[in-house]
Amino acid sequence: MQPDSPAPKRMVRFLLGSRSDWHLTRPRWPRLRSGLHLVGPIAVALSTLASYVAFAGATGDGGSVALGLWVGAASIILMSWSFLLAVRLRWMERFFGGLDSIYRVHRWAGTLAVVLMFLHTSIEPEIEGGIRGASRSVAETAEDLAGTGELMIYGLVALSLVRIFPYRLWRLTHKLLGIPFAFACWHFFTAEKPYANASAWGWWFGFWMIAGIVAYLARVFVRDMAARGQEFQVVAAEHSGSTTRLELKPLGRPLGHQTGQFAFLKLKTSGMSEPHPFTIASSPHRTNLVFYIRHLGDWSQRLTTLHLIGTRATLEGPYGQFQPHSPDHEPSLWIAGGVGITPFLAALDTDEPILQRPTLLYAVRSVENNPIVDLLMDAERQGRVKLRIFTSETGRLTPAALDEEFPNGLAGVHVALCGPNGLVTSMADAAAARGAAAIETEDFDIRQGFGPERSTEIDSVLKRGLQRTQVVLSQAD
Ligand SMILES: Cc1cc2nc3c(=O)[nH]c(=O)nc-3n(C[C@H](O)[C@H](O)[C@H](O)COP(=O)(O)OP(=O)(O)OC[C@H]3O[C@@H](n4cnc5c(N)ncnc54)[C@H](O)[C@@H]3O)c2cc1C
Repeated sequence: MQPDSPAPKRMVRFLLGSRSDWHLTRPRWPRLRSGLHLVGPIAVALSTLASYVAFAGATGDGGSVALGLWVGAASIILMSWSFLLAVRLRWMERFFGGLDSIYRVHRWAGTLAVVLMFLHTSIEPEIEGGIRGASRSVAETAEDLAGTGELMIYGLVALSLVRIFPYRLWRLTHKLLGIPFAFACWHFFTAEKPYANASAWGWWFGFWMIAGIVAYLARVFVRDMAARGQEFQVVAAEHSGSTTRLELKPLGRPLGHQTGQFAFLKLKTSGMSEPHPFTIASSPHRTNLVFYIRHLGDWSQRLTTLHLIGTRATLEGPYGQFQPHSPDHEPSLWIAGGVGITPFLAALDTDEPILQRPTLLYAVRSVENNPIVDLLMDAERQGRVKLRIFTSETGRLTPAALDEEFPNGLAGVHVALCGPNGLVTSMADAAAARGAAAIETEDFDIRQGFGPERSTEIDSVLKRGLQRTQVVLSQAD
């Protein structure tokens, strides 16, 4: 940034970020470790596609009445799936391959639903001889409402896509999506269709509409508002550099996690009740759970200002199916960037001998005063890992490191990656090109989207604005 450029220009540049912030990351498909992981995505696709049969014979103005009606119905089914997946039901993980895959399908289903809704309104299907679900006036009012809902959806989805809109606020706006969904359902129910609402097809679509609304209510009013999860207490909190190490003692049942899993953490102290996902960095065999939390934004930075010892915490989970070690005992290659090291810390936190010593390539900003690096070096000294650290001084982690460590390629090697999106994608592609037997990745980003992350800065500007308004109002009193 030029120091002498005018302030508004600098502000615009800051808000827009750099070109790389807007880089389109190639979508990664849900990983398939077992055939069971296909069941979820296939159920989503089949329930959407099969619904075409309900409209196949529809005719009317123009040639695409059947298609126009079906895309509207398909949009509702996909939105319903999107709400169902957002409830974070743990039993669903096995049918999708983990919560990160569930969120990936959630985003794709939501995006496709919006595209299909746009197609539906562009086609404007007018069926001949259809059965209306309510009187003409009710159906017309419902159609108007659906039009309002459509605009609302476009706005809410646009906010989801640009990361410049702070996560905390986005989370609140995302909860409004149930309103346009209810409008769309009401329009669908009352509109003219080739079948009656009391027929088998009527029940089929009724099921999806009710399932979507129930899932939405469960997510917003039960999962987000009711106290859920297991009770813990903070017994240690150490801050070093840009990271806090938290140790939590269970007050009731233990969480019962597997290596590589994560949980949503809430702290019962002012301003910390929003659940945030963090990987459990300690072994499943230990009673206390350890988290390493990078100070990224509002919530995580506040950790350094609070007295945490003794604070009650709630953990919801465990979630995730990330496996640092190969279930088939293949040799492992671990690739981590920054705080993406946490699932591997859990894997190394063991007193038992590790049969296949993994190779760990770790990209980190600095090794000075870094307790995580000290832990890794200890593990290497004890022969539990073969460690290579990459910093800006020693050189960046690039695919060349794979050739240096595995000159004969990665056939038969289990590769697990966790860290910043750019690093994970480039190294996962490189590992695939070198014939890796399996590639495991964990996303540390539930929302995804484009543009620079400006949560902290925008939040603090909004808060300053709010404080100033309060001062003005109190002076006016
Ligand atoms: C599966 C998973 C495991 C993770 N494990 C770790 C870990 O071990 N250590 C670590 O430091 N970080 C981890 N993260 C990232 C961590 O959740 C975010 O850095 C943290 O929530 C940032 O919150 P903030 O308010 O301080 O920052 P903000 O600046 O508000 O947010 C920064 C980014 O963090 C994400 N985020 C913010 N709030 C939430 C929320 N309530 N729920 C979900 N995501 C949110 C969003 O992508 C947002 O863009 C993990 C994330 C996921 C999805």
